[in-house]
Amino acid sequence: MRITVIGSGTLAPSPDRASPCHLVEHDDLALLLDAGPGAVHGLARRGKPWWALTHVVFSHYHTDHFADLPHLLFALRHAPPTPRHLPLRILGPPGLRDRVEALRAAHGEFIVRPGFPVALHEVGPDPVPVGGRAVLRFVPTPHTGHSLAVRLDARCPATGGVLSAGYTGDTGPDPALGEFFAGVDLLISECAWPDPPPAGGHLTPRTVAELAIRVRPRNLALTHLYPPLDPASAPALVRAAGYDGRVLCPRDGESFVVRPLVRAAPPPASANRAPRDSSRRIPPASPAPRHPPTGEPSSCSS
Ligand SMILES: [Zn+2]
Ligand SMILES: [Zn+2]
Repeated sequence: MRITVIGSGTLAPSPDRASPCHLVEHDDLALLLDAGPGAVHGLARRGKPWWALTHVVFSHYHTDHFADLPHLLFALRHAPPTPRHLPLRILGPPGLRDRVEALRAAHGEFIVRPGFPVALHEVGPDPVPVGGRAVLRFVPTPHTGHSLAVRLDARCPATGGVLSAGYTGDTGPDPALGEFFAGVDLLISECAWPDPPPAGGHLTPRTVAELAIRVRPRNLALTHLYPPLDPASAPALVRAAGYDGRVLCPRDGESFVVRPLVRAAPPPASANRAPRDSSRRIPPASPAPRHPPTGEPSSCSS
């Protein structure tokens, strides 16, 4: 599973960090987690096949997470390298159908009939299978009346092990998120406000640390930082708040490769070489167990 940060920023215009968007590539999936302004151009800038997306998943409908949907559909209709027939499945909290209908009224019929099937799915508490080997789960977050956090668990085609990733979307502190994300290989967590927070509805280094202590992800990636929080110093603030796991603040274009644990054998020498692309190939946050039980969730050994 490869997860690429397309947009690590906020609603604030930035030359370096676009609005929230993350690309998950795994098996037959090419799935976006949020599609904020600049998402489609960002995919192209990173050399990603934006025309081959299979799913778009929205955490909520604030503009910085949602606004590139009409542009994506317009581009898929008019600019794919070959005519697209692949269905696109769009998932989001309740209200998705009303918003897509409003976009159709504003922009035209291509929103719902771009030349290939578009399926809308308003998600609830039930797991949603996606692709052949993956499941999405959702839990409400204290941010808006409809905002959701997202968890993806996927079978590794090669080993059958489970690879997992979590995305907080936008959220205030909520102990339920700790259980929801427990043990994920990669947790992408918003960290919008400094401590003490100027308002509710977002996390801070201290509350991200509290969440991560419950989750114990292999890797914790901070995103969605508003000034005066600085991406260069935010990981240290999370550690200073008591979290001793691996934490970083990726730039736009950086990738995480989530792969199964290598069991009872040393990693191949190539795993220790410097990557040729911008992927994070980070050792596990703690030494891999010598004899992990069969079927245990695999680690982010990137
Ligand atoms: Zn929001
Ligand atoms: Zn936001």
